[in-house]
Amino acid sequence: MSRDRSEAFGALIGSQSADANEFWLEHCTTPQKEDSATRVNFNMRAPHHQKSVDSYYESSHGKLGYLGTWHTHPEPTPTPSNIDITDWKKCIKRNPDRQLIFVIVGQKDVCIFREINGSFKRIFKEKIDD
Ligand SMILES: [Zn+2]
Repeated sequence: MSRDRSEAFGALIGSQSADANEFWLEHCTTPQKEDSATRVNFNMRAPHHQKSVDSYYESSHGKLGYLGTWHTHPEPTPTPSNIDITDWKKCIKRNPDRQLIFVIVGQKDVCIFREINGSFKRIFKEKIDD
């Protein structure tokens, strides 16, 4: 796996049920050249990600919004790093009006995590077929 691919990330765009127990992922933003290549400088507030989120929100008349983030890991079944946890907690703080989900794409599995009672739990795991 190339270095670039292992560090890809973006925003998740979709909708959720009123009780936040169901999510519908509709779109995700993909890395662009102005994004920093290093994980340390991971910055979801890069302008083009925000622009995509805003334009989906407007064209769907508020049905679609920011749902969380996705990124890739150079390991078969991904588990969140301490950096991920810190980053996810910041995302949750910035978006107190909704429940966020966080996707990590590994080499074999894609996993989805969300915060339940103060800690991050894996709520979904599926093999990537290629
Ligand atoms: Zn990570």
